[in-house]
Amino acid sequence: MWRRRRKVWRVIRGTSHLPFIAQAQRHGRQTAVVDAQGAFTYNDLLDASSRVAAALLAGREDLHEERVAFLVTPGFPWVAAQWGIWRAGGVAVPLPLNSAGPELEYFIDDTGASALVWDAQAAPVLAPIAAARSIRALSYEQLSALQQAESADSHININSERRAMILYTSGTTSRPKGVVTTHANITAQIMSLVEAWEWSANDRILLCLPLHHVHGIINVVSCALWSGATCQMLRRFDANAVWDAIAGGSVTLFMAVPTIYVKLIAAWEKASPERRALLSQACARLRLMVSGSAALPVSTLRRWKEISGHTLLERYGMTEIGMALSNPLRGERVPGSVGTPLPSVDVQLVGEDGVPVAPGTLGEIEVRGPSVFLEYWGRPEATRVAFRDGWFRTGDTAVIESENGVYRIFGRTNIDVLKTGGHKVSALEIEDALREHPAVAECAVVGVPDAEWGERVAAAVVLKEGLKDGDVLDLPSLRAWAKELMAAHKVPSRLVVVDALPRNAMGKVMKPSVAALFRAGGAGDSVA
Ligand code: AMP
Repeated sequence: MWRRRRKVWRVIRGTSHLPFIAQAQRHGRQTAVVDAQGAFTYNDLLDASSRVAAALLAGREDLHEERVAFLVTPGFPWVAAQWGIWRAGGVAVPLPLNSAGPELEYFIDDTGASALVWDAQAAPVLAPIAAARSIRALSYEQLSALQQAESADSHININSERRAMILYTSGTTSRPKGVVTTHANITAQIMSLVEAWEWSANDRILLCLPLHHVHGIINVVSCALWSGATCQMLRRFDANAVWDAIAGGSVTLFMAVPTIYVKLIAAWEKASPERRALLSQACARLRLMVSGSAALPVSTLRRWKEISGHTLLERYGMTEIGMALSNPLRGERVPGSVGTPLPSVDVQLVGEDGVPVAPGTLGEIEVRGPSVFLEYWGRPEATRVAFRDGWFRTGDTAVIESENGVYRIFGRTNIDVLKTGGHKVSALEIEDALREHPAVAECAVVGVPDAEWGERVAAAVVLKEGLKDGDVLDLPSLRAWAKELMAAHKVPSRLVVVDALPRNAMGKVMKPSVAALFRAGGAGDSVA
């Protein structure tokens, strides 16, 4: 463990060279990125990012951590833009595609971006924003048409402790905060995963995740490019395009959020028997399939195993820390658990007093190590309260199982851990059980304040296709069914049937919006 940690620090403590550039130079002629335009080598990436850097610098020596926001469709230009910003000494701020103008304005204003990079698709929405603020605007197409620039970063001394990236939190609970990571943080996040999941230059990963979140940026793109592997990038998620790419036969790794697996299962089920057989056979050629960023329903894990033969590796992480816990690459993956700490990540579970709790007892997850972020951008008070004695307080509650030492996530402490009748119960555990009901396609459980119980267990449910009639699921029948599966205090006492759950761009259920369904005029059935 300690030997491993020393190795991580030796690599990321360098002061003058960006470590990913040195890595890329080693893999020069290998294919780095495949997108709709074709295949691009590591040399292509070094060349294109150098041009972007030279254009951003425009004669200056170093951007000195100026923020450069960029809105570019996933593909080779996205990576060239990100690397170019870094090579110019800037802080990369990847903006979410499909955002409305005011959301983009918020990110641009909050970071105080001095320049914007966009591609043709993003220009119409960003051009007026840039003009209104007199921000320098650079179109990727113009940048890439420039003549080969003088190597832009040959004279820049980029200390690994400098700020590298700002990613916005998903904002499921409050206004998004900008999470600042340094080059050293990013390198540590990458190296931990490369080691744990045994990335190599022989790997080829399929990207179908958005590129404004740690999952796509670090776990998929950055780990691939650090390792000399190939990243095959789809512009956006499309279930049949993903299946076609898997059927193509050269993908070795796949990583996604649970909702994507649900959509892939639905597409597989709609396919002809011949295509189903072909797709299932193709899965056998992958060496690893990973799920994370939200709890993986055990029913999804089971169905995916039947379809693909793969037991999904579930891991736990967060924008602020990268990845912290993971089931093993080799060895038993425990359904419903997120495994144990990743290399060079310290994890502890603490009670409300900050003292570590014993296995079998609920506690808040705290994380420490080189992968933990530097600060919330422009929010010193939020940064201060996020740490206790050097540990980052995740706000997630978990338990370490006494029998096997694996972590089980209860959910967000203030949202998913419900206090009802003196018991603490996990919304995620109840959701997992409710998904076993024959009429339930999706569900979200929240606590609704109640004078008698403290909180009542309230469930929002989406019915399976073809069962749109609200009569097929009412509260008394759901309760009678659920009492066979769980203790009485966990059984929902409020129910609302909805057409769709409110989700954000990463597919995460927005729990405050679910809770609002029950507040708004007392929707749905309830029992006393
Ligand atoms: P984000 O910063 O958007 O990646 O969101 C991080 C949050 O997602 C964590 O604080 C957890 O609440 C949740 N999360 C991530 N992975 C898992 C997982 N495997 N199981 C349950 N919750 C997860």
